[in-house]
Amino acid sequence: MLLTRPFPDLNETLQSYVIRLARANHYSIETWAQYLSQESAPVRTKDLNSRKQLVSFLSRVTGMTEVEKLFDQWQFYNTDKNFFDYKAVKICPLCISNNGSKLYAPWTFRYNLCCQSHSCLLVDTCSTCGHMISERCIHSIKCQNCGLLLSEFKVQNVQSDIFSSRISQKVSDGILNERESLLDELSWQYSTLEAFSLLVYEENQANWRNKRGYSLSDKHNHQIAVSRLMENEELLINAIKKYAQGQFEKGTTDLGKALMKFSKYLVDEVNPAILLSVKKLIGWGKFDDQISIGVIFLSKLYGLEQENFKQYLQNHVSTTGFKNRAIPASLAAKVVSEYLEFK
Ligand SMILES: [Zn+2]
Ligand SMILES: [Zn+2]
Repeated sequence: MLLTRPFPDLNETLQSYVIRLARANHYSIETWAQYLSQESAPVRTKDLNSRKQLVSFLSRVTGMTEVEKLFDQWQFYNTDKNFFDYKAVKICPLCISNNGSKLYAPWTFRYNLCCQSHSCLLVDTCSTCGHMISERCIHSIKCQNCGLLLSEFKVQNVQSDIFSSRISQKVSDGILNERESLLDELSWQYSTLEAFSLLVYEENQANWRNKRGYSLSDKHNHQIAVSRLMENEELLINAIKKYAQGQFEKGTTDLGKALMKFSKYLVDEVNPAILLSVKKLIGWGKFDDQISIGVIFLSKLYGLEQENFKQYLQNHVSTTGFKNRAIPASLAAKVVSEYLEFK
């Protein structure tokens, strides 16, 4: 069945190698996929055992044991599909034009948007007609709609965002072979983007919410905006302040309630930068008189024993301003530090 058996490249994905086998042997994607289905398992099967079967079948028919080491994003579909792109195929046209049209593993990661070797944005659509890049385009090395060669797709030079840079760094450190570390990194990326997007969204980045019609360039601008906040504490504190201010304008007078959407990033150390910035914001103490902070929120934020803290607030009403299970936000930092000394 296979006259030509190219060597697998350990930087490419299993999907990439499957496509290359079809191309090298002059099979259409469909014929080749059908053959694999009959002889082993469907190329897009999400069942882990079937995937293992497929990999060992490919390894056997090609005589290449390296196939077993190729990165396979489909093994994560049932458990972690948010971390990968499955519908669209992202590529760097410059890499494709000199790597024998292989798909590199880092391109499958949803929040990796840049090629570090060429300092450019990855692309997922044809630069002439806008057709989405599919496996068939990779197989024929050109746009299926207008025929533009993948190597002639336009590239846009961009500065890399934190998420794309981290993927590239971690992949070169070997993370593709460490399933747990890989998933830890990807879930960190996901929750960090989710948290910071609440702040960037306030800056008219509505696209993040409306995921349809959301180009890689929009996505990259968004990740750059998030990266800026992550790198600059003062910007981050101001963004949180502005977010809270927006909530106050909608009628909330409680800081905990204003920051309710951040609560899951504040209770544990998922996102130390946000936690620290909220504490600094409270430390500034620049809140209007009517803004308060609840005891529960403060206790969680500073890791205080709630009942003891409440008792303290009650016993020192004249300095703490304790009322309705809350204290004035402008006094909170001072009260917490006095409590910690008192304890
Ligand atoms: Zn490249
Ligand atoms: Zn096209």
